[in-house]
Amino acid sequence: MASKILIVEDNLMNRALFRVVLLSYGFEIVEAENGAEGVKAAREQRPDLILMDLQMPVMNGYEAAKILRDEPTTSKIPLVVVTAFAMNGDREKVLASGFDRYISKPFIGAELSKIIRELLATGQRSE
Ligand SMILES: [Mg+2]
Repeated sequence: MASKILIVEDNLMNRALFRVVLLSYGFEIVEAENGAEGVKAAREQRPDLILMDLQMPVMNGYEAAKILRDEPTTSKIPLVVVTAFAMNGDREKVLASGFDRYISKPFIGAELSKIIRELLATGQRSE
């Protein structure tokens, strides 16, 4: 069965890009356009991994990550940030916020797929 990836991203073009890349690598995808929808989708769909933008309306990626990490049903789902935010200290802040990996935009499809497969092979994160 294909692994299910939840894409949480407010930008339509970026979502379309993720969709094309991930489908081409054989993943099943679910999409959400802000952090609040992403949290809801994670609860309902139980994805194998979540790709999350940081800057989004309604609820940003940091807030969504905190909620997901605090809930037993979603706390162990690998959480990957894909963001254009790449200033000094951002990576540390992101990793300290409950995310497992950090991918900078623009990304290469093969790189994205490799990171996803690594995290899926490792399985759910430990406490
Ligand atoms: Mg955004």
